[in-house]
Amino acid sequence: ETLVNRIAAGEVIQRPANAIKELLENSLDAKSTNIQITVKSGGLKMLQIQDDGCGIRKEDLEIVCERFTTSKLTQFEDLSSIATFGFRGEALASISHVAHLTITTKTSNDQCAYKAMYEDGKLKAPPKPCAGNQGTQITAEDLFYNVSTRRKALKNPSEEHARIADVVSRYAIHNPRVGFSLKKLGENLAEIRTKANSTHVDNIKCIFGNSVARELLEVECVEDGLKFKLHGFISNANFSTKKQIFLLFINHRLVDSTGLRRALDSVYSLYLPKGAHPFAYLSLELDPRNVDVNVHPTKHEVHFLHEDSIIEKVKQAIEAKLSGANT
Ligand code: ADP
Ligand code: MG
Repeated sequence: ETLVNRIAAGEVIQRPANAIKELLENSLDAKSTNIQITVKSGGLKMLQIQDDGCGIRKEDLEIVCERFTTSKLTQFEDLSSIATFGFRGEALASISHVAHLTITTKTSNDQCAYKAMYEDGKLKAPPKPCAGNQGTQITAEDLFYNVSTRRKALKNPSEEHARIADVVSRYAIHNPRVGFSLKKLGENLAEIRTKANSTHVDNIKCIFGNSVARELLEVECVEDGLKFKLHGFISNANFSTKKQIFLLFINHRLVDSTGLRRALDSVYSLYLPKGAHPFAYLSLELDPRNVDVNVHPTKHEVHFLHEDSIIEKVKQAIEAKLSGANT
């Protein structure tokens, strides 16, 4: 059974950046206002996330790393929306099967914090009382220590680090009210640092620099009929990074959509000079029942109902902005 769980876990968590994404989403779901991430060797030796969210109750520490344990079911009326939002109760379980996992947490109701260590989904010993502020610290050490094929496949800590930084940057831009930091263990200076209560534009500037942020156009669009809401920022500039930057969130989860990418490319090819490297941050809110629930956890590509019509509307909204800006 342990082996089966480990194989399943390896599908959810294929590299450190997958773990960071899951842990970030948990901290955001816990209504944190500050999230600090510390990593060692691209997260392969250690990745740690500290938040100031609601914390985990002592009695729940026993079960949080069991598969399909989630506290988020009651917030949603039907099961299909749960999967859509990523509430599968698999993230902590999976991490505990492929790393040494330690959780230190305190809720506002508890007198002290509790520290718990896990292996293969199970608590190693009863949680120990300890000092700590409200919130949760999760530490995963020696990722894939027991999955040699994965360990061998991930040879390059600096590439893993870059992927982590990319995920943190994207969540920071999408969540300007929350302060984020990312640093390497032992270094004083954070390589990413955003303040709590900033704006999307502040954070785009902070992460991608002034040249991107200077020419940003805000796009907004609401469609009651198709049940979707779009908000985002696109650049009208040809700035000098190597590649196009495209950040897409659907229902506050970082995803990818080939259809949307193509639509964006086709609009940009009309309005920007050849070889331009545009920036786009788009946040789409859709009826959760309309988003494909069968997406694989590590496949970020999503599909949704009325996809073509919604993409067409998004395209029109962006085109209107770009054409307006150019005249
Ligand atoms: P899911 O997010 O799908 O519910 P996870 O395995 O990611 O499943 O997390 C399991 C449960 O652990 C969550 O439902 C939540 O109750 C609790 N949890 C995990 N991380 C945090 C956190 N940072 N703060 C508070 N609770 C957390
Ligand atoms: Mg989760």
